[in-house]
Order: sequence, then structure tokens, then C-alpha cells
Amino acid sequence: MAEVVFLGTSCGIPMPDRNHPGIHFQYNEHRFLFDCGENTQRQLAIAKLSPMKISRVFITHFHGDHYFGLIGFIQSNYWRERTEPLYIYGPKGIKTLVEDVMRLVEQGKKTFELVVEEVKEGVVVDEPEFTVSAFPTKHSRPGFGYVFQEKERLHADEKKLRKIGLNPGPLYGDLKAGKTVEWKGKKLKPADYVTREKGIKFVYTGDTEMCDSTIKAAEGADLLVHDSTFAQDASDRARDATHSTARDAGEVARQANVRQLVLTHFSTRYKEEELDKLLQDAKKEFDNVIVAKDFMRLEI
Ligand SMILES: [Zn+2]
Ligand SMILES: [Zn+2]
Repeated sequence: MAEVVFLGTSCGIPMPDRNHPGIHFQYNEHRFLFDCGENTQRQLAIAKLSPMKISRVFITHFHGDHYFGLIGFIQSNYWRERTEPLYIYGPKGIKTLVEDVMRLVEQGKKTFELVVEEVKEGVVVDEPEFTVSAFPTKHSRPGFGYVFQEKERLHADEKKLRKIGLNPGPLYGDLKAGKTVEWKGKKLKPADYVTREKGIKFVYTGDTEMCDSTIKAAEGADLLVHDSTFAQDASDRARDATHSTARDAGEVARQANVRQLVLTHFSTRYKEEELDKLLQDAKKEFDNVIVAKDFMRLEI
């Protein structure tokens, strides 16, 4: 199970009830941030989420609303004497950005390892239980969206194994690890005794126009969080600003066959009560859609 908490759902200019973009993502003991706009630290505090437990931060692109909170976030981790490493990922330039600024602002002793990596399209993090991959988006600045993909969950078929007298134990683990095991002189193949379950898939676009790379990356996702800066009647404005309309987001969700779509990154021209217009636009293309709000929590 994973949980997503929206820390900011505004676009370039924050509003009283909408902060700059940021998403807190939790999967088992792993906690990540996707984008880190200005004031993300305070949003984390209000949501009662610990910045010290976040192990990886993924920045989509270098528009200030998506990364101006990063330096303060790193600084606070030093002041709190964090000891666990912190990994920061972003487009080309993230390394010099963090290194240059940290040289100027860093105070006190280095209590943890700060690892900064420039991402390319493809797998960025490969852990035993999951991967995080980057895909190119279409925006006025080069950027990447991110895909969290839980690996297939393997289950030993207990019912079937008990039938042949094999109770849960180390051989179950061997079968799940893909090994053929021997039991009462008989060879048991994983293909016959292990079932596979699709893992959770979460996709966050950051800022983007509707584009094929998102449709491809989001294929079959459980949750797609898509740029939805404008309503359909402002589609010209959306094209000029290289953003998506809510209807664009709906179309991507439909073509990618996702389970649920969340709209975010709303223009300041829409007040809270006007966001229903964007929801209705998206619903013309895709039914299972909701509008994100700051501090909204969603389970995947
Ligand atoms: Zn933005
Ligand atoms: Zn942008």
C-alpha cells in the first residue's frame, strides 16, 4: 500500500489555500517528495509529516514553483542533525544548483551524505521492491515526470503446496526467489507454485502539455497526477504556457487506461469553488477523476 499527500496544488503563484507544488509519497518505510516548492517544509509540518524521514526528493523541472523549497529543506535537515543519506534527483543542472547554494548557506557540520543525481529518461532508482523512472515531459523548460512502479508481488500458492504436504517455511521463500526446489524426491518449479500480483503504479507529470510520453509512461497506472492548469475554454492560454487543460489530463488518463486521475497545478484565475468546472471538463474524457486540494490524502 502507498499513500500520497498533496502539499501544494497551485501553479506559479501560491494562494492562501494552495501552496506551490509538492507531493509526499509513502510506500512501506520509504518516503519521497515529488517536487519541493517554496513553503513545502511548513506544509509538511502542518500535515504532521517528518522531513527527516524523507529519503529521496524528485524535482521535475526548474521553474521556481517546483524547487524553491529544496534548499531550505536540505538546510533544515542539517540543523536537525539528520544522519541518514538524502538523495536528490532532477534534470541536468540540479547538481551545480545544490552544490553552489549549499556552499554558500551550509552551516555547522555535515551530519549526513547528500547525493545529487541528474536524471535521464529511464530507471532512476532500482530497489528490490520498486523502481522510480523518469520520462520526458513537454514544457517550456526541459523536465521529467516520474513513475513509481512497485515490482510484481510473488506469492507462494499455499493451498496448492499444503496439498502436497509442504507447509510454509524456507522452501516457500526459495520458490518465490525463482528457484526450483526438491520436496519428497519431486522437483517443484516456481511457475507451478508461485502466483504473481501486479504492483502499484503511481505517475506524476509535473508541468506539461498533453504528450505521448506521458500516455506511454502512465499506461495502466493506479494513480495519475497530471498538470491541469486551465479549463478547456482557456485552451489557447494553456498551449501558450505549455500547460494542460483539465480535459487534456482526462484524455491522457483515458488513453493510458489508468485507474484514477487527480487534477492539480491550478491557475490562480480559478477560485476553489470554480475548480468544479475543471472537474467537469476532465469528466468528458475520463470518469474516475478528482480535484486535488492541499493536504488531501489518497491511498493507492
Ligand atoms: Zn509549475
Ligand atoms: Zn513549469
